[in-house]
Amino acid sequence: MTATSDKLDLWRKQANDVAHHLSGTTKSLEQGISDVLGEEFLHLEDNREFLLNIDDKIFTCVTCGWWYENSENAGERQNGFYCFDCDDGWVK
Ligand SMILES: [Zn+2]
Repeated sequence: MTATSDKLDLWRKQANDVAHHLSGTTKSLEQGISDVLGEEFLHLEDNREFLLNIDDKIFTCVTCGWWYENSENAGERQNGFYCFDCDDGWVK
């Protein structure tokens, strides 16, 4: 089954709202969805298109666990992305 473009637009907007809410926090994605959209939308955690849109905007630092805008992505290690604040902690 192919998602309609209406659905894709909605997921993009919802991901945008959730990403905005999570940025600068250590909340779980589940918490973010619940806060912004309501618990009835927790199924979005399994929605690939929604998750791709989240990934497009924010990431969780593997070291400190905070959400950051992708522009604050300092690089990638084997286990994931890290922020500029944690950048100094890595052995280069
Ligand atoms: Zn960090």
